[in-house]
Amino acid sequence: MENSYAEDISQVKSILTDARSVLILTGAGISAESGVPTFRGGGGAPVWRGMPFEQLSSAEMVEKDLPLVWEWFDYRRNLVGECEPNAAHQVLATVQQSERFSDFSLVTQNIDGLHQGAGASDVIELHGSIWQASCLSCKTTQSLREIPEDERPPICPECFDSMRPDVILFGEAMPVQAVYGAQKKAEKCDVCIVVGTSALVYPAAELPLIAKQSGATIIEINQEETGLSSQANISLRGKAAEVLPLIFAENDSPNLRLPENKKVGSLDS
Ligand code: NAD
Ligand code: ZN
Repeated sequence: MENSYAEDISQVKSILTDARSVLILTGAGISAESGVPTFRGGGGAPVWRGMPFEQLSSAEMVEKDLPLVWEWFDYRRNLVGECEPNAAHQVLATVQQSERFSDFSLVTQNIDGLHQGAGASDVIELHGSIWQASCLSCKTTQSLREIPEDERPPICPECFDSMRPDVILFGEAMPVQAVYGAQKKAEKCDVCIVVGTSALVYPAAELPLIAKQSGATIIEINQEETGLSSQANISLRGKAAEVLPLIFAENDSPNLRLPENKKVGSLDS
């Protein structure tokens, strides 16, 4: 029989009471309520200046037209710069700072920097950061907050070659160190909470499975069913900014209002 939303929230809270090591994996959905554009939806393929997203954000375009890649990422960064972390980013940062769990790791596919904006630290950014540049030659990185926007492409302070956005682009390999770090966290967590990701692509899709194989409980928070739902122990169907504050609330408040009409599939496997 299907549990009610309230029952699932309390079950997750009780799982978290016993947890020591918690891994949070986030995707674009956690930033949806901050208004970060996804460049998806609307039916058609996302385009900017008539060019498909995949073509603009590609390793090939870095070689062909680096100034255009910068223009595109400056445009995106300025949009992201207008966005504020939401209650989901905030509660995760607060829990991390509270040291309630002996290990609390944040791994994200997002490049928007909103976890850090909320005060989180040591975030593993699987796809890089829109706030950082990296050198084409020596890979030195530098914060774009320190580089004026008219310096395009930015020049590497170490070797004086050009720099590019420090983001994993289409056609590029994943950053080995970040992926390895995330896999190690997945192997040793007791609870893995997957928030706002369709969890379709490697390595994000693999992390909850590694955690599960290592005995962890998998909790999914997503408005929709995903490829991971059948593997999750509990799937909470709701918005990240509503659900995360509820599950991390330390005590049940009599005034706690649950979103109405929420149904969840609770899958014990
Ligand atoms: P995705 O677009 O494939 O999936 C987003 C998921 O979030 C969906 O399953 C959707 O149902 C869910 N969702 C939407 N709103 C939600 C909400 N309010 N609360 C909870 N869940 C919600 O995103 P992905 O899995 O992260 O993969 C997309 C790729 O695009 C990644 O590579 C990512 O780097 C990139 N991307 C990043 C950003 C960003 O940095 N904010 C934004 C868009 C895309
Ligand atoms: Zn360099």
